[in-house]
Amino acid sequence: MTDTLFSKIINREIPADIVYEDDLCLAFHDITPQAPVHILIIPKQAIVKIADAAESDQSLLGHLLLKARVIAKEQGYEDAFRLVINNGSAAGQTVFHLHVHILAGRQFNWPPG
Ligand code: 5GP
Repeated sequence: MTDTLFSKIINREIPADIVYEDDLCLAFHDITPQAPVHILIIPKQAIVKIADAAESDQSLLGHLLLKARVIAKEQGYEDAFRLVINNGSAAGQTVFHLHVHILAGRQFNWPPG
């Protein structure tokens, strides 16, 4: 996998407003927030997109979701938040390093745009 913007953020080659980090993942504020809270949580292991995840990534993917829940709570949104994973360009993915969007702080509609 080639270097992406997000691997550069992991390696501190470009700055980000980091809110959480552990051995497996990093979470930081989105540069173009789509809600009052818009944080991205990414695995440090470079997975291009969710469609490329392997069975062996099961615990890592679970870790991302559970930490997303903790981060939403820390931001003051325990009960209402939205998690989004865009997979592939046609679904809106623009950075090809798997990431979960954590969105909160406004009303969200369904179906999404
Ligand atoms: P995607 O469209 O791939 O699901 O989401 C990529 C997200 O990365 C977008 O919401 C975009 O605003 C965010 N993003 C793009 N470049 C940067 C950057 O340099 N720093 C941060 N913090 N977020 C970025």
